[in-house]
Amino acid sequence: MNIILLGPPGAGKGTQARFLVEGRNMIQLSTGDMLREAKTSGTEMGLRVAAIMDRGELVTDEIVIGLIREKLEGDKQGGFIFDGFPRTLKQADALAALLAATGERLDAVIEMQVDDAALVSRITARSTCGHCGEVYNDVTKPIPADHICTSCGVKADFKRRADDNEDSLKTRLMEYYKKTSPLIGYYYAKGQLHGVDGLGEMSAVEADIAKVLDR
Ligand code: AMP
Repeated sequence: MNIILLGPPGAGKGTQARFLVEGRNMIQLSTGDMLREAKTSGTEMGLRVAAIMDRGELVTDEIVIGLIREKLEGDKQGGFIFDGFPRTLKQADALAALLAATGERLDAVIEMQVDDAALVSRITARSTCGHCGEVYNDVTKPIPADHICTSCGVKADFKRRADDNEDSLKTRLMEYYKKTSPLIGYYYAKGQLHGVDGLGEMSAVEADIAKVLDR
């Protein structure tokens, strides 16, 4: 089963993808994570995209399509979760072609619906465990005082993303509405779109997604 998690920054795509990886042995393909890794390890491509990402703009379609193409050639396990990809119509067309070429298909597009006010407060308060990626929030789920992650049990560094600030978030939201939100109509027209309320408790959102996948 191959699915797309679609939604603005802070909608909870990464969190829900982690549940699906654990529960269904699926593979999370997050282009944001891949790009951040390239940036941290200082590859030529990583250096090229660093400033673009920090500003909250989208990197070129060619770069992210190339990253996804490579991953589709690998092990498929329980299927792929596309997280943060596609983000433009060109990427969506490229994904359809890549899947068709490998005899795979897209089973569902889950649109995670949240309102903008919730996104700003979620994102500016967000940090993650540097070891396992568990997401924390200054208000609703603060980092433990002893810095031992409640998910992996490791005393870890807790990281804030360089683009999780109000200025970059404004750009990221604008990019989302201008370039990514047309995908909602695109997948609706293809009969693949399923809306899920992303504002509920994490477990409620997880259950709603399960309903779509198990239908
Ligand atoms: P994310 O972790 O999905 O929020 O992505 C972080 C940043 O990486 C984005 O703001 C973009 O700069 C870049 N990025 C990630 N995925 C894509 C994509 N599919 N297309 C273009 N840029 C992307």
